[in-house]
Amino acid sequence: MRLTVLGCSGGIAADLRTTSLLLGTHTLIDCGTGVGDLSLAQLLAIDTVFLTHSHLDHTALLPMLADARLSHSQGTLTVHTRPETSTALCQHLFNGALWPDYTRMPSDDQPALRFAPLQVGDVRDVDGIAIVALPANHSVPALGFLLRGARRTVAFSGDTGPCPDFWAILACETGLTDVIVETTFANAQHQAALRAGHHTAATLAPCAAGLPASVRRWITHLEPGHEAALGAELNASLGTPFQLLQRGNDFEL
Ligand SMILES: [Zn+2]
Ligand SMILES: [Zn+2]
Repeated sequence: MRLTVLGCSGGIAADLRTTSLLLGTHTLIDCGTGVGDLSLAQLLAIDTVFLTHSHLDHTALLPMLADARLSHSQGTLTVHTRPETSTALCQHLFNGALWPDYTRMPSDDQPALRFAPLQVGDVRDVDGIAIVALPANHSVPALGFLLRGARRTVAFSGDTGPCPDFWAILACETGLTDVIVETTFANAQHQAALRAGHHTAATLAPCAAGLPASVRRWITHLEPGHEAALGAELNASLGTPFQLLQRGNDFEL
């Protein structure tokens, strides 16, 4: 099954989209602005979403996706995420003021959207791909995900600063082929990065140092306009080859 990057930027600007990855045809990992490039037919095919956390750059199009599906009577969209994330989204987004409460519409027993609780270590199967919830260290409760397929096993950090438990789990994952990890801030913004729960090149380097050389490193969530500077800092810090993740990149799992 194919994992396709719909968006991977830390912000918006022309040709940039925020975080979302499409797994096969009916599952999303995060629901940022990259989802807006899907055709209506592709949107209606999606019935499952895995969310790393509540922040808008990862959830912005979830209300619109639910709306599109409801208007075409597509049944319930299941959103797997931490209970803290679903609580935040229900309180602040699907609250009848910013957007209708689609967890109770069109009816309580057949809603347009339902949240399914997910904890670190939980495993869900999506068409033969095992999706494992990984720990993360962000300013709000967050997850990463491991996608274990027959051909490749890809780890995705979501938004996180240094998180020893994340790297400890990856160290035991013998089939690991790819790690997609965030770097959001420049080294000069070290304190801001720590407060916000994001990586700089300097904080990522020691975390990633234990990865086998055979594991491909992909960097995501760069701040728009700072890609070249962050790339240079990553080059100086990591000491191993890496690639900046791009919209349209895909992984055959
Ligand atoms: Zn975030
Ligand atoms: Zn983010």
